[in-house]
Formats: sequence, C-alpha cells, structure tokens
Amino acid sequence: MAQDPRVSLVTPMYNEADNLDRFFAEIIPILEGLKGGFEILAIDDGSTDSTYEKLQNQHNSDNRIKVIRFRSNFGQTAAFSAGFKHSKGDIVITIDADLQNDPKDIPGMIKKLDEGFDIVAGWRYHRQDKLFSRRLPSLLANKLISWTTKVHLKDYGCSLKIFRKDIVKNIQLYGEMHRFIPAVASWMGVNVAEVKVNHRPRIAGVSKYGIDRSIRVVLDLITVKFLLSYSTSPIQIFGLIGVTSGALGFLVALWMSIQKLFMGIPLGGRPALLLAVMLILIGVQFVSIGLVAEMLSRTYHESQGKSTYVIKNILS
Ligand code: UDP
Ligand code: MG
Repeated sequence: MAQDPRVSLVTPMYNEADNLDRFFAEIIPILEGLKGGFEILAIDDGSTDSTYEKLQNQHNSDNRIKVIRFRSNFGQTAAFSAGFKHSKGDIVITIDADLQNDPKDIPGMIKKLDEGFDIVAGWRYHRQDKLFSRRLPSLLANKLISWTTKVHLKDYGCSLKIFRKDIVKNIQLYGEMHRFIPAVASWMGVNVAEVKVNHRPRIAGVSKYGIDRSIRVVLDLITVKFLLSYSTSPIQIFGLIGVTSGALGFLVALWMSIQKLFMGIPLGGRPALLLAVMLILIGVQFVSIGLVAEMLSRTYHESQGKSTYVIKNILS
C-alpha cells in the first residue's frame, strides 16, 4: 500500500468551473514544493455547471486529486466536513477554490505550524471584497466572535487555514460553522497562530454569499458559545437564570401577600402581581429546560461515545 501523504488540501467548489483549471495550475506547484507528498480533496458541493466534469478530467490526469461529489448543495461547511473525514494527511489545509486566497502563502503557514502550533489561520490583511455587504459586517462579526469565544483572531472568515490532523478529526461542524473551527477546537486546548495573507478579487464566477450570511453567523455564534461553555452542564446556565427569576418573583409575591394579609392593601389593580407571577413562571420554565438539556447533553455525549475531555498524552 502506498504511504499516506503528509499534506491534505481540502477545497469546496460550488459552480467554480471557470476557476478550476487555473486553481489546480496554481496550487499544484506549491504543494509539490512541500515535503512528504500531498493529496487534494476537491468537494463538488452540488454544482450545476461543468465543475464535476472538469474535476473528473483533473482526477484522471493526476491521481493525487480526489473528488467528492455531493448530491446537492449542502454548503461550504458540509464540504469542509466531508474533506476532513476523508483526509489522510497529518497536515490539513483548507482553501477556497475561487483563488481569492493566494496559494503562495501556504509554505510560510506550514513553517509557522511546525513552530508548534495546532492551527495557523490566514488574516486577509487587504481584503478584496465589497465594503458594505461584506467587509463591514465581517468586521463587526470578528469583534463579536473574538469577544465571545476564547480564541482571538482578526479574521475568522478566512478559509485559508492549516490544521493538525487531530484537530479536524475531533470536531463536528454544523450550519455555517467552519469559521468557528478554531473556537470549536478551543475546548480541547489548541495553540492558534494568525498570519497575514494575500487576498485577491475574484476573477471568474460569482460570490455565493451576501449580507444575509451575517445573521446566520451570529446565530451560529450563539450555538458555539453555548456548546463551548455549557454543553456538559446546561443546568448551570438555565438553572441560574431560572432560580434568579423565580427568587425575584417569590420576593415580590411575598411582599404583596404581607401587604394584603397584614396591612389590608388589596391585591386587585396592582400590576406588580402580574410581574411576580411572570417571574415565577419563567423561573420554573428555565429550570425545567435546564433539566431537559442535562438529559440531552448526556445523550449527546454518550450516544457518540464522546468524552468530555481530550488527552494529549499519557506517561505510564
Ligand atoms: N462554496 C461551496 N458551497 C456553497 C457556497 C460556496 O462549496 O454553498 C465554495 C465556493 O465554491 C468557494 C468557497 O466556498 O470555493 C467560498 O465561496 P465564495 O467565494 O462565494 O465566498 P466569499 O469568498 O465571497 O466569502
Ligand atoms: Mg471567494
């Protein structure tokens, strides 16, 4: 059996037929310059143009190019996931197929990884995209992600990233989550470096995204934050909110009861009564949701044989 390559490059392609040949022409000489051999995993994400046919040709002329074809358009994150699952290399590179990222940045990033990092992320220093629909929302999103997660990067959205194999084999991605890989991986403890990379305008094909992606990213951020902080103990967050709310409600209700029973102040016509009832109900709801989430969390971890820790090594 042939030896596994050291480097796996994963690239998602959705209607990128006009970029494809140029992409391989640019990337292959760079990968050939790295030691240890390489494979390219091109994921055709349900393209409706001639992307797949062109990939077939590429694969036929070079068996280092492997092609995974999705039945339908499942999205960039799903494409990365599939690539990670099938990758064999110790080093996994992700890059967009539209050539906006510059393959020339790869050797430098690998050198950085070899300095002892687990993830090296690209930072599109001079980003070549539209200002209002892309760069501004992304600026806000980056600040928000950096503030909520433990991994601080300038540019989460850059697809050009390099990972050690055990990182990508140990995470599961959903939704629009590929930009959160460093944050998702942070639960197992990772060293992340960020290096400035070149960014170029698209020369062919069209961007698949618009402003609506920002909203989806923020929603995913809530999920990531929750999973990172509380997935093994959801009652701690839901319970805290529930108990606080319930206790406030109880105090208000108690005060009103005392007033009614001992001071003769009638309950009718006092909006505070409504507040007390609402706070108590919210409290009960949150604690119950917390308990249900506790059960779900056990199912989540145990059904997948997922442990709540990751071991680096054992001396015995
Ligand atoms: N892509 C994909 N599936 C999708 C959307 C995009 O595989 O549903 C790929 C696309 O072919 C490209 C990369 O993801 O290689 C980034 O897409 P795009 O260039 O449109 O994003 P932008 O650079 O504008 O953020
Ligand atoms: Mg692009």
